[in-house]
Amino acid sequence: MVQSSLASSRRQHAGARWLVRQLPALRDELERQRDFREEQLAHLLAHDENGTSLIGYGPRATDGDAARALREVRALLVSGARRALADIELALARMSEGGYGRCRACDAGIPIAVLAAIPTTTLCRVCQLSAEGVTSTGS
Ligand SMILES: [Zn+2]
Repeated sequence: MVQSSLASSRRQHAGARWLVRQLPALRDELERQRDFREEQLAHLLAHDENGTSLIGYGPRATDGDAARALREVRALLVSGARRALADIELALARMSEGGYGRCRACDAGIPIAVLAAIPTTTLCRVCQLSAEGVTSTGS
């Protein structure tokens, strides 16, 4: 992590200049997403404490299958929101530290179009796929 080499590599690509210009807007967007996810999580966890009120099942949610389905939906939503929040925090941290726009695993440049569409991206496509286990050799 040498700051001067980072600065010079920034100047090598038009894409990097775009990134520097767009960084404040991307940061705003990420902070909006973070607020949304934190609110969503707080909401989900509050419902969790109340037990069964997520989709208005009321007393019938004490029924085994319905309660189990409800718990599964909620668990999926909570884990999805947590994962999204972690991605957002990671991207924001990399904006502060200077690694934003580069893969955090292999340091390859992440295409501008990808960052513009999904500002939380911190892995290149290859590393993303291997992180998801898509490239696994089995079956
Ligand atoms: Zn990579």
